[in-house]
Amino acid sequence: MTSLHLLDGGTLDVESSVVIPSTRYGTRLTVPVQMFLVGTTHGYVLVDTGNDPRVIDDPEGAWGQKLADSARPTMAGHHHLARQLQLLGLSPTDVKVVIYTHLHHDHAGGGRLFPDAVHVVQRTEHRWAMSPDPQAAGAYVASDLAEPRSWRLADGDWHVLPGISLVLTPGHTPGHQSVMVWEAPDLGNVILAGDAINSHENIDSNVPPGITTDAVAAGLSMRRLTALADATDAVIVTGHDMEQFRAMPKAPERLRRTDEWPASRRLPDPGPLRIGSS
Ligand SMILES: [Zn+2]
Repeated sequence: MTSLHLLDGGTLDVESSVVIPSTRYGTRLTVPVQMFLVGTTHGYVLVDTGNDPRVIDDPEGAWGQKLADSARPTMAGHHHLARQLQLLGLSPTDVKVVIYTHLHHDHAGGGRLFPDAVHVVQRTEHRWAMSPDPQAAGAYVASDLAEPRSWRLADGDWHVLPGISLVLTPGHTPGHQSVMVWEAPDLGNVILAGDAINSHENIDSNVPPGITTDAVAAGLSMRRLTALADATDAVIVTGHDMEQFRAMPKAPERLRRTDEWPASRRLPDPGPLRIGSS
């Protein structure tokens, strides 16, 4: 592993219960849109691609009225993925592999900038995104996935490149995956949770994100990630956590731990079963 950078894709202004269900109904929450660039011995790997860059000028045109009204994006020119790569002296052609945690509008919108890269997603997610059930269709944008590209479809966990592993974490969507980055400089092992964990508040309250296609699976996926973090001494970077986003150095700085970095949270652990004593 040679480098890890956080790229800033702007923000969304969402209904609070999208992140933590059953709380603060009717209030809005501003959440970051994050992309990550991993430098490997095999070239640059992008994890998630943020919003469609056309959102900068025309959210309704890019997403349609309904999604633009509910997700309320704020995206300036410098949030364009090409401009974020430019901060590091790179251009889209330097990115050899694009990994998607899932194919929602705020994660798959920039994929078209990388026509020559290999695009990696779970097979289940790809299939679902191409033909979602009506109640889940609003978070996918057909134009994000319209251009032909070189897909590599994963079937579950996959040690995809040296230093990068895919961890299947369904629930938010049927084929959601998280990305483990091993031994990032100054940071150690890092779990890019994606929307399997929207915010550290999900861990604190032991409640998975509000948007799910399978809430039971989402709870298990969240536990899977916190257990993995325990076992590998990894830090968890959650998908839409403004507190954590503010604490994380952004490109062109390398992602590293700062004094403001939130303390690691863990799900409540009942401890080992005690037998034969009261
Ligand atoms: Zn998201």
